[in-house]
Amino acid sequence: MAGEEVSNKQVIFRDYVSGSPKESDMCVTTSSIKLKVPEGSKAVLVKNLYLSCDPYMRGRMSRPLIASYIGSFQPGSPIGGYGVSKVLDSGHPNFKKGDLVWGITGWEEYSLITATESLFKIHDTDVPLSYYTGILGMPGMTAYAGLYEICSPKKGEYVFVSAASGAVGQLVGQFAKLLGCYVVGSAGTNDKVNLLKSKFGFDEAFNYKEEPDLVAALQRYFPEGIDIYFENVGGKMLDAVLQNLRDHGRIAVCGMISQYNLEHPEGVHNLSALILKQARMVGFLAPSFYDKYPNYLELVLPSIKEGKITYVEDIAEGLESAPAALVGLFTGRNVGKQVVVVARE
Ligand code: NAP
Repeated sequence: MAGEEVSNKQVIFRDYVSGSPKESDMCVTTSSIKLKVPEGSKAVLVKNLYLSCDPYMRGRMSRPLIASYIGSFQPGSPIGGYGVSKVLDSGHPNFKKGDLVWGITGWEEYSLITATESLFKIHDTDVPLSYYTGILGMPGMTAYAGLYEICSPKKGEYVFVSAASGAVGQLVGQFAKLLGCYVVGSAGTNDKVNLLKSKFGFDEAFNYKEEPDLVAALQRYFPEGIDIYFENVGGKMLDAVLQNLRDHGRIAVCGMISQYNLEHPEGVHNLSALILKQARMVGFLAPSFYDKYPNYLELVLPSIKEGKITYVEDIAEGLESAPAALVGLFTGRNVGKQVVVVARE
């Protein structure tokens, strides 16, 4: 009921984290919220339906860094991140009660969102709504921007994807296959390796944890070298790829999850390969490409509906399960896109 004050379960960030994040770095509490936008405000009041667990959130758990592109979480306040929500009240002319949106919200049942510029209205509800935390949201735009915009793949090229069964990686591999590339992925369990080959159509896949020599493993799968590397993990894998690059190779530096919890990141040793192979290595952030979101939807929505692209989600039920779900990204507990369901309607 509009204007009613209701209880609001929240996932609170306790304090800044160093090393690996733990469930106990967060706690679930209950406060209350008025289901109405304050008089004269241009904010929207939403009911949160699905929340997205994303590796970049680890950076927001650290003490504030001047160089960071996004602020740290506030100790004692709810965690914030991407989510899918329903508008209950709006002071903003672009949003009205009943609209479905995706964008930055709070890890709580209801949120007052003042940064409405981060919200996208959802028009197509012919697909699972949770997809707007993944294939139809930020991770989808990440796969699209990194593969199409940064790497410009051509039919027949050799593509390698790390963290390949995750939110971003499973899409990169499928997009590259649709473009006629040869695609190999790495993942951290044999079940994930099977998924890559049987469900996502990767040509080959391997468990990086069972490979004592990553350079040799890549040589086995890419005897002629790698044209495109979609970098999700960093560290030793990046060094091994650099040693296996083809002339004019491209590396889209999307993420380096193996480094996020280290106090001192590992060095990269084989960068001179970029000179010898006349290769490019380019970092990027998905939000810089959000102006291309309509183009992306045009490409991906028909592919989903025609069954040309599939998307695997790992669903955690309820805000109580959110801390474990987020922390699980850093141990590889998630199989596919990690989503938290707060409410289904
Ligand atoms: P995800 O793959 O769904 O989940 C993270 C996965 O990373 C885990 O399941 C685990 O899979 C793997 N992992 C965890 N620790 C690792 C380690 N020490 N070494 C190697 N692999 C490890 O996550 P995602 O959302 O798709 O994100 C993938 C990468 O893209 C991350 O680096 C993220 O920061 C980055 N990203 C960047 C942007 C951007 O705008 N640039 C946007 C979104 C995501 P295994 O079981 O296979 O190890």
